[in-house]
Amino acid sequence: MNTPHVVIIGAGFGGLNVAKQLRNAPVQITLIDKQNYHLFQPLLYQVAIAGLLPSQIAYPLRTIFRDQKNLTFQLGEVTGINFEARYVSMNGSAIAYDSLVIAVGAETNFFGMDSIEQGGFEVKDIQKAVSTRNHLLKMFEQAHHEADEEKRRALLTFVVVGGGPTGVETAGALAELINRVMVKDFPDLDLEEARVILLEANDHLITPYPHELRHATFDLLRREDVEILLNTKLADFNGQAVTLGDGRQIATHTLIWTAGVKAAPMLDSLGVEQAAAGRVRVTPTLQLPQHPDVFVVGDAAYLLNGEGQPLPMLSTVAIQQGKVTAQNIWRIISGKQPEPFYYKDLGLLATIGRNAAVARIWGMSFSGFIAWVIWVFLHIYRLIGFRNRILVFVNWAWDYIFYENQIRLITRE
Ligand SMILES: Cc1cc2nc3c(=O)[nH]c(=O)nc-3n(C[C@H](O)[C@H](O)[C@H](O)COP(=O)(O)OP(=O)(O)OC[C@H]3O[C@@H](n4cnc5c(N)ncnc54)[C@H](O)[C@@H]3O)c2cc1C
Repeated sequence: MNTPHVVIIGAGFGGLNVAKQLRNAPVQITLIDKQNYHLFQPLLYQVAIAGLLPSQIAYPLRTIFRDQKNLTFQLGEVTGINFEARYVSMNGSAIAYDSLVIAVGAETNFFGMDSIEQGGFEVKDIQKAVSTRNHLLKMFEQAHHEADEEKRRALLTFVVVGGGPTGVETAGALAELINRVMVKDFPDLDLEEARVILLEANDHLITPYPHELRHATFDLLRREDVEILLNTKLADFNGQAVTLGDGRQIATHTLIWTAGVKAAPMLDSLGVEQAAAGRVRVTPTLQLPQHPDVFVVGDAAYLLNGEGQPLPMLSTVAIQQGKVTAQNIWRIISGKQPEPFYYKDLGLLATIGRNAAVARIWGMSFSGFIAWVIWVFLHIYRLIGFRNRILVFVNWAWDYIFYENQIRLITRE
């Protein structure tokens, strides 16, 4: 009897969990990713603000799956899928499948604003987070030898666009870097001139969070001296200044864009039905309606929850969908019907800075120190690899005690 071949495209939160859950299944797995590591994206902004090293939040896939005998890892980018002939195209070769899992995630959505895409910074992958870190640190170095006050103020003005959790976390961490660390590194630079400005088009921050936590977030950011501009749209950025929707300009060389994501571009060429943000419509069992041998999970999949809202692009959704997909593949092989996916909402969590976070867990809202402690330990627990957990813990403890972000390196790109 032939062993069914399961091909998984993408080793993010969704794909990784499909692969792990099929560890003892009677299948042969090929896991494909264009990167040779699994990336813990929720901590990418910490790389951008010089808080953590890339290697502390990424883990090599060959190490993760070293002991999984039914899995082969292939490094490469999938460029096409033939659903009728059942193969994927990668690096000029074809890989046949019996079951396919598409878990390719998402990329930054600039909503067609080319000037922002070209001149702005983002925190969606390691390279972009490191570029952001290098740029931020260079701004302080340049400001240090800039005699002209107006030019210096522009160098020290940092605009973050998007008041969602990533924007809030980035703005808070950046303000903390300036107020607690850079003031020590640049004693002869007046960092009272520095500004962190958070732009949000809506009339509130962190939309999915309850009212009381939106307020708490606002207050905690203000405590860190972040200037929050609500109901404010970004119109343009030319590398020298940001132009707002009402025509106002802010002189700055730094714009960090966190205001949108869309599903990975390879999905656009598959000829499947796509919904908002390019996500692929799937059945409640996470299969493609016309191709039940193909599953789509995580940020790439579009599925409504019980209230008719699309499931959020969150790691918790991707992880749970990965696990259910593995079970469904196993059920189909055993001659059973696949089961529908129901998302178990585990709550919301975002940090603003030292001793400052907001959390919604078990229907209760927390803010401040308790939420921050929950955030710290949950993120350490969720990292892959004992070594990374220890390193991140030591790093954060060091920062906490000594007010020092240790990764203040400007590296060549
Ligand atoms: C800065 C940031 C902060 C976040 N914070 C949080 C948070 O606090 N909490 C939370 O729950 N979620 C958070 N998220 C969202 C979370 O990271 C995503 O929802 C989650 O990663 C989605 O998992 P996924 O498996 O669908 O995709 P991903 O984890 O993005 O993995 C997709 C994988 O597919 C690979 N891939 C893509 N295209 C191809 C191709 N053509 N060929 C081969 N490989 C390919 C990629 O290399 C990648 O490894 C954050 C995201 C970002 C960017």
